[in-house]
Amino acid sequence: MVSRIGWLRAAVLGANDGIVSTASLIIGVAAASAASADVLIAGTAGLVAGAMSMAAGEYVSVSSQSDTEQADLARERRELASQPEVERDELARIYVERGIDPVLANQVAEQLMAKDSLGAHARDELGISEGVIARPVQAALTSAATFAVGAALPLSIVLLVPRPALLAAVAVSSLGFLGLLGAVGARVGGASVGRATIRVTFWGALAMAATAAIGAMFGTVV
Ligand SMILES: [Zn+2]
Repeated sequence: MVSRIGWLRAAVLGANDGIVSTASLIIGVAAASAASADVLIAGTAGLVAGAMSMAAGEYVSVSSQSDTEQADLARERRELASQPEVERDELARIYVERGIDPVLANQVAEQLMAKDSLGAHARDELGISEGVIARPVQAALTSAATFAVGAALPLSIVLLVPRPALLAAVAVSSLGFLGLLGAVGARVGGASVGRATIRVTFWGALAMAATAAIGAMFGTVV
């Protein structure tokens, strides 16, 4: 359940980033009175650049998390081999701290370690379990894919809507997509739908307003 929400949260965030940054880019270029074809090129470049940068960032961050996990597990494995009693007491103490009485905690530690000592220590001492283990490539691909899906939404508006209506259409539809995503994310996460929707559309609107202003400024200068 928790890992499903984590995955969904990452997907919603990736799509969110894709919509905000690509819509803002499109609006900025369109506000500088570029032709539809140029707006499309800029938006497509934005999609690719954003997806790659999301993948790279996520890969690096999750890799270093994974390195840390692997190093922790290796040290734990060594300690389990060299001093099993100390390790058993350590595990029992963790259960006592969580509210289990000392005699029972010792039994729990002993029985869990008899079955899978590294697994028990990984889970209860290091907080690493099978479901939440760091997977760099998977994280990178998920981020890139969800960003691209989000970015494709405002980009598809550029293809569908004639140039004069482009600015307004991208802004309105992107805010709509953002609101919808915010509502879905909040609903799944059990948070307030109204507040999440307002928050996400507010920041989206701010980003688009900023690039529209910059685009208009440069459009008149150049
Ligand atoms: Zn340990």
